[in-house]
Amino acid sequence: CGIVGYVGPLDSIDVLMGGLGRLEYRGYDSAGVAVIDGQGALHTRKRAGKLAVLSGDLAAGNLPESHTGIGHTRWATHGGPTDANAHPHLGDDGRLALIHNGIIENFAAIKAELVEQGETFRSETDTEVAAVLLGREYRATGDLRAAFRRVVGRFEGAFTLLAVHQDEPGLVVGARRNSPLVIGLGDGENFLGSDVAAFVEHTRRALAIGQDQMVAITPSAVEITDFSGTPVEAEPFEVSWDA
Ligand code: GLU
Repeated sequence: CGIVGYVGPLDSIDVLMGGLGRLEYRGYDSAGVAVIDGQGALHTRKRAGKLAVLSGDLAAGNLPESHTGIGHTRWATHGGPTDANAHPHLGDDGRLALIHNGIIENFAAIKAELVEQGETFRSETDTEVAAVLLGREYRATGDLRAAFRRVVGRFEGAFTLLAVHQDEPGLVVGARRNSPLVIGLGDGENFLGSDVAAFVEHTRRALAIGQDQMVAITPSAVEITDFSGTPVEAEPFEVSWDA
């Protein structure tokens, strides 16, 4: 339902939780984050319930400082509002995390194929097929951008997807089809959000991502392409409303 991504010098948990708080108005039933620490380890926390439940876990859990991360508030469509069904979902044996807004209409066929190939699932969501498929492509390519490009076009329906892999700290990839995704442009940091409220506290310079496009953000660069990898130009705009 709500999506935030961050790469930059700030502690990513602060940026993600702040952004999710600003997206709360959209409504949700669960929340979660995944961050990559300075040692290149992925940490995920996700809970059914209000953001305060997740905040409580984070406060108790002493997560190490991190500078790459993704955060999600979920409005359940496939699978009830449980901790296991909350996002992020994992792939590549827990080295990769993915969040999703929308519905992947053809998830059952992809899931059947993955189960046949020996993959196992921990949730009832449509989303987890994207995490598991991306994990397989990551193992095949060793490159998050390339792996992401190989999977996004396979999904039908509506999706905003963000993913991170612990072997590529400082990188968040995203894609959208029939569901919104906006880039926030910072100085030595960049943001992704399902709407500008996710990052307006940090920057008002934004870039819209078009239909069937993907993006890779690092602290110093933003690369937008179509699903085949062809670069796309986007015009920055100023967020003018008082968010
Ligand atoms: N279909 C996904 C799920 O049920 C994502 C829902 C959302 O947009 O939050 O987990």
